[in-house]
Amino acid sequence: MSSFFKKTLSGIKVAHHKNTEDCKTVTMPVPAKVSLPMLQHMGAPCVPLVKVNDTVNVGQLIGSSDKFMSAPIHSSVSGRVAAIEEYINPLGVRTQSVIIETDGLQTVDPSVQPPVVGNKEEFLAAVKASGLIGLGGAGFPTFIKLNPAKPEEVDTLVINGAECEPYITTDYREFMENGEEVLEGIAAVVKYLELKYVKIGIEDNKPEAIAKMKELTAGRDGYEVVSLKSSYPQGAEKVLIYETTGRTVKEGQLPADAGAIVMNVSSVGFLARYLKTGMPLVTKRITVDGSAVAKPQNVVVPVGAMISDVMEFCGGYQKEPKLILMGGPMTGIAVYDDAFPVIKNNNAILAFDEDFVNEEPESPCIRCGRCVQACPFDLMPAALEKAYHAKDVDALKALKVNLCMECGSCSYVCPAKRNLAFSNRMAKKFLRENSIK
Ligand code: SF4
Ligand code: SF4
Repeated sequence: MSSFFKKTLSGIKVAHHKNTEDCKTVTMPVPAKVSLPMLQHMGAPCVPLVKVNDTVNVGQLIGSSDKFMSAPIHSSVSGRVAAIEEYINPLGVRTQSVIIETDGLQTVDPSVQPPVVGNKEEFLAAVKASGLIGLGGAGFPTFIKLNPAKPEEVDTLVINGAECEPYITTDYREFMENGEEVLEGIAAVVKYLELKYVKIGIEDNKPEAIAKMKELTAGRDGYEVVSLKSSYPQGAEKVLIYETTGRTVKEGQLPADAGAIVMNVSSVGFLARYLKTGMPLVTKRITVDGSAVAKPQNVVVPVGAMISDVMEFCGGYQKEPKLILMGGPMTGIAVYDDAFPVIKNNNAILAFDEDFVNEEPESPCIRCGRCVQACPFDLMPAALEKAYHAKDVDALKALKVNLCMECGSCSYVCPAKRNLAFSNRMAKKFLRENSIK
């Protein structure tokens, strides 16, 4: 076994809190306005294609970029463009956002038509046009992922259904409510990319999803549903590839270098629906949960809906929220209020009251080494934090901060409550902004 993975096989134990796993997905009504940031993905921001007072329809293309690494953005509502304004996202990145006042009609744009797909090129063009990005949280444009440099060396599609983050149950609901569409999406990828094997990885705390997918895939050559041990972070791309295929993605490599492409279960489910309807990515299922939420549930929301509107739909706050997270407790981003829009790769909004939030302040590192033990990639989080605070580029590179996948395991186990994963995120941003490879 490679030392690269010696910690991965154990992972860390986190409480699951899958409180909403049995909550059938509900759809929230269209809010009075949406805010559609022009950066909802990894890569270059889009440029708005509309102007103030334009009328827009559902599914209409409203933002695009001529840069390769980007993903188009479509309107999730019909209505009028009320403003195009600067938007600072929860990580402090400035971009523009198109604010649309909805008319309540949800008129579908005439451009929304099922794509004509007869070969790989048309398939990839359709995936790009759909606006699909990795829905597991990373936000990587899917059409790029599906077009590796050496396609002849890729033979396996790995479906990420681990959903190892506490609280979040959106992927589980995708399996349970749309299992057939998940398979249709998988079949399309397998067909156009000429893949041989499909590995569907699901943590063993979701036995119903495992049973359902085993039933649906029975008799399909090359398909395997892999029951994964419930430990964190099983859903991390490199970990998942190892656990489902036994292949190792070495340092500096991409999954395609190990012959695999990884897609989130909700991504393939969406892809199946897009190929049938042509409706781009304009809605998102999110888990709304946490001690401050009156009615935790899984909700389909229009992309761009404000957290405050989503919360109102979920019965409002039953207690004053002390902490609001976009995403799960391990990798999510804390926001200081609920005036932020839900974007494509959000998969949860969690709100916790004062009693639930750990108010213990950070204290000095006691050099216990637990963060190193917890890291799946043998990184040294305490040393990385020190290097980041010193803005020591050489040390950050030597300590391989770019290998950090921001899983949050180190922060979780740290007895000094140091926010190590966030420090790594900021360190990577610092290297990027200074174009330091
Ligand atoms: S956040 Fe980064 S450094 Fe911390 S455990 Fe995860 S991969 Fe390792
Ligand atoms: S877990 Fe926390 S206290 Fe222990 S070595 Fe890492 S940073 Fe220091």
